[in-house]
Amino acid sequence: MHEPIDPARLARLRTDLGRKGMDINQKLTDILAGKNVTLATLKMPHEQKPGEKPEEKLRRFLNQISRAQRRLGTPAWGLCVTCQAPLPDAVLDDTPWTEECNTCGRL
Ligand SMILES: [Zn+2]
Repeated sequence: MHEPIDPARLARLRTDLGRKGMDINQKLTDILAGKNVTLATLKMPHEQKPGEKPEEKLRRFLNQISRAQRRLGTPAWGLCVTCQAPLPDAVLDDTPWTEECNTCGRL
């Protein structure tokens, strides 16, 4: 089982998620304004939906970040949403919006 989350780490994760949300929002605004935006550096979830437009992809990512913000600080934080296996701290520190373990994410 995971230890209760360290308050400093919790604060950092909250900040990271907030920043990421703002970053995505900005890119979404730029895309809708017709600007050229690169999505390659975003560490987007690897899930691909055929035919999905960049703005749809960004909205999906924003929703995922919101869900992570709601989970943060609750017992659901850090667990795979599908099988409840604990996600590695290194993964959560790098991409705190991760929802599924490697096994479930590949299905
Ligand atoms: Zn899983």
